Amino acid sequence: MVLQNDQNYGESTRSVHGGEGHQKALDSITDPIVMASTYTFSDTQAVIDYIEEKQQRGEYGRYGNPNESVVERKLANLEGGQDAVLFSSGMAAIVGVIMAKLNAGDEVVFFDECYHRSREFCSQHMSRFGVITRQVEACNYDAMEAAITSNTKLLVSESPTNPHLSVVDLERFAEIGKRKGIETLIDATLATPHNIKPLSYGVDYVLHSATKYLAGHNDLLAGAIIGNSDKLEDIRYLRGILGSINSAHNCYLLQRGLKTFDVRMERHNKNGQAIAEFLEMHPRVSKVYYPGLASHKYHEVAVKQMNGFGGLITFELANADWRETADVVDRCTIPKIAPSLGGVESLIEQPLIMSYYELPAEERASYGIRDNMIRMAIGIEDTEDLIQDLKQALAG
Ligand SMILES: *Cc1c(COP(=O)(O)O)cnc(C)c1O
Repeated sequence: MVLQNDQNYGESTRSVHGGEGHQKALDSITDPIVMASTYTFSDTQAVIDYIEEKQQRGEYGRYGNPNESVVERKLANLEGGQDAVLFSSGMAAIVGVIMAKLNAGDEVVFFDECYHRSREFCSQHMSRFGVITRQVEACNYDAMEAAITSNTKLLVSESPTNPHLSVVDLERFAEIGKRKGIETLIDATLATPHNIKPLSYGVDYVLHSATKYLAGHNDLLAGAIIGNSDKLEDIRYLRGILGSINSAHNCYLLQRGLKTFDVRMERHNKNGQAIAEFLEMHPRVSKVYYPGLASHKYHEVAVKQMNGFGGLITFELANADWRETADVVDRCTIPKIAPSLGGVESLIEQPLIMSYYELPAEERASYGIRDNMIRMAIGIEDTEDLIQDLKQALAG
C-alpha cells in the first residue's frame, strides 16, 4: 500500500504513511538510509533497459536517491499534487524553478513582500542572463496585471508574506495567470499544506522551504517544488545538472520530521493565535501582524482560504526605539534569538538587526521594516509558558 495521492485519508495518516511502502526493504518499519553515490547494474542489458526507461531504478547519486523519492511522494501527497522535486534548500528550489522556466528576454513579476534572497537572485543575478524582474506592491492585483507584458512567463508571490503576513487571494492570483496564459508560483512556506493548498486554486507551482515547518526541528535545510508531473520534468532534469540534491541522511530526517507534521501544525496554529491575541491586548504593543486577528489587513481572505494561521507573528512596540526593542528581545528566556521559523523551538528576532542591518534606512523603510519591530516564530512549547515569558519581557 502506498498512500500516494490518496486524499481519502486524513492529514495525520498521510503525514505518517503517505508516499511510503507498507512493507519496506529488510522488513524495516523505517525506510533504511541508502548511503550510495552510485548504483550498480547486474549486466550491460540492465544498463540499456534503464536508459530506454524500461526500468525505474537508481543510477548516480546526483540524479536522486531512494530516501529522496519517498519524501517527494509524501510531499506531493500532502500538497495534493502529482509530483514533487526536492532540493537541498528552499533557495535551491527557487533557483531551480526560475532557471528551468525562464530564458533571456523573459520577464517575471513578483509581489514585493518576498524573501529577500529570492528578490536578490532575480534582480541581481537572473538580470545577468537577460531575465527581467518586475516588482509590484503585494496583493495589488491591478498593479500585477499592469506589469505583465507579452514576455511575462511567471508570476510569483509568497503567501503569507514575511514578515508582514500579507495573504494573497489565490483565486485572483491564479485567475490572472490563467487568463493571460502565464504560469503562477506560490511560496507557501509560512502556510504549509496544513493551512492552505495553493494547487487547489489553480496555482501551477507550490514552493516550500522544507527547512521550516515541513522538517520542523531546526536541524536541516531542504526545499521542494510541487505541481503537475509534466511541468516538473525540466526542473528535475536541471536539478540533476545543478547538483542541488539532498543526501540520503538529510532526506531521512525530513521524512521523520514529516511524520508529526499534522500534530505540530495544530500546536503552531493554536500557539500563534493565542499569542497574537495576547500581544494585541498588551499596552506596550502598538501593532500585531497576524492573519488570524480581525484587525489584520487580509483577515477576510485568510479566513476564506486558510485552515489556520501558523506560528509566525510580527509586532511593533509603542514608542520604542531600536534599543528598547532589542531589550525586550533580550529579556525573553524561552525563545532563542535566531533567524528561521517553523521548528519546534520558538525563535525571536528584530528584523532590523537580523535581516536588514546593512541596508540604508530609506530602503529598509521601503520594505516596511521598522526599528520597533519584533518577529517571533512560535514553536510548540506550552502556550501559557510562552505568554508568561513575553509578559515578563514586555514588563522589563
Ligand atoms: C526560509 C525561506 C526561504 C529560503 O529557504 P532556505 O531553505 O533557507 O533556502 C524561502 N522562502 C521563504 C518564505 C522562507 O521563509
